Amino acid sequence: MEYEAIIGLEVHAQLLTESKIFCSCSTKFGARPNSQVCPVCLGMPGVLPVLNKKALEYAIRAAVAMNCEISPRSRFARKNYFYPDLPKGYQISQYEEPLSKNGWLEIETNGTRKRIRIRRIHLEEDAGKLIHEYSRDWSYVDLNRAGVPLIEIVSEPDISSPEEAVSYLKKLRSILMYIGVCDGNMEEGSLRCDANVSVRPRGSRELGTKTEIKNVNSFKFVQKALEYEIRRQIAVLESGEKVVQETRLFDSNRGVTFSMRSKEEAHDYRYFPDPDLLPVVIDEEWIKEIKNTLPELPDARKERFINQYGIPSYDADILTSSREVADYFEECVKHYSKPKTISNWIMTEVLRELKGEENIKNFPVTPEKLAELLKLVDNGTISGKIAKEVFSEMVVTGKRATHIVEEKGIRQISDEAEIERIVSQVIENNPNEVARYRAGQEKLLGFFVGEVMKATKGKANPRLVNEILRKRLSQ
Ligand code: ADP
Ligand code: MG
Ligand code: ZN
Repeated sequence: MEYEAIIGLEVHAQLLTESKIFCSCSTKFGARPNSQVCPVCLGMPGVLPVLNKKALEYAIRAAVAMNCEISPRSRFARKNYFYPDLPKGYQISQYEEPLSKNGWLEIETNGTRKRIRIRRIHLEEDAGKLIHEYSRDWSYVDLNRAGVPLIEIVSEPDISSPEEAVSYLKKLRSILMYIGVCDGNMEEGSLRCDANVSVRPRGSRELGTKTEIKNVNSFKFVQKALEYEIRRQIAVLESGEKVVQETRLFDSNRGVTFSMRSKEEAHDYRYFPDPDLLPVVIDEEWIKEIKNTLPELPDARKERFINQYGIPSYDADILTSSREVADYFEECVKHYSKPKTISNWIMTEVLRELKGEENIKNFPVTPEKLAELLKLVDNGTISGKIAKEVFSEMVVTGKRATHIVEEKGIRQISDEAEIERIVSQVIENNPNEVARYRAGQEKLLGFFVGEVMKATKGKANPRLVNEILRKRLSQ
């Protein structure tokens, strides 16, 4: 029997506010444990939470960017459970009346576009962090993160493969970063993903029983965890058993998921509206205002890049996935009007050297400097190959390309007479190869080119070398 997978993702994104969602404590990452806490986020009795307007604004910004309807009135609810990282004994979240509903975003996998519906985006507070010291059997509680604002973005089960799940997550991250509400840092936990998955016989209309894989916090792990879990569920069904609804964890070392708790052990959170917080009432004007400040989003920018610069969809996709990289590209084009050449350089050399798109702000090779380098290739001063070496040097020293070329004397040899002279030398030194070439082994041309390049330390103009060699060898 053939099976198909059904996937829905629940993503938590930390909002980039300076202070927490219901108190004025700092949200700065990496501070000394428990140095950013107060009676409110510590859950002391008698204190009252006050909603951070910026957090609400950012949540609306995200909801609007993902095509959601904003509820004119929403409410916070208490989600009750006990855990040492949760001092109040409940998390303030939203339940029956979320901030926004019915959005969507578009993904593209293997050239096919697909809309993934978003069920809801709501606001909530983060919990603290437990740090375990296994050697001593001790655990520590750090409450700096307690009360940091999050949005939870819940998709409909519209995702059909691990590849689609990764593309959805990438698009989501890219949008959140474009609109400046989340730094997208998955390693530091600013973006966390729970993956729900079920399988069913292909063509069936009913949904199968799902499992939820908690905290799969990298694109690679999302892919691997889902691949494993889909295989596992199919094997369970094939053996005549039933999939058990449960929460699972992904062990990235072994590449497997394992059961964390079953449905029976699931919490009853006893949600109820938080009596300490007023309902959130949002007027149309404010939503409009926020809409008006949204930047051009990745999909629109990609379309524009294809139309305006005539670059392939593949290139446009990579270039626009980060706002900074897209800005860098457009800045380069201002200085050098060959978009495809620039795109090639960014997709290979620049992105490789960057080691993380966020580093582009401090990248020593500014758009203007890259443009200057590419012009040197264009006007024949250096070859494409030498240009890559010059580029590496620019990354290290921040010097201009013209500077490096002069300093190292690596100007390309385009003087025909000089190349003729070197070619003569090479022909003279290799009589056997010449004879073989003339007897029909034309593949040897590469050998001769290599010899000329060796003699010129790679500086000879390759087009001229080929031309002159062909001519001289056929004489
Ligand atoms: P729960 O009540 O267990 O949290 P929800 O209905 O709230 O389940 O859905 C949580 C997430 O799981 C959503 O992203 C949703 O799209 C996804 N989901 C729901 N049912 C299925 C299913 N049968 N297979 C895969 N994903 C599902
Ligand atoms: Mg849920
Ligand atoms: Zn606080």
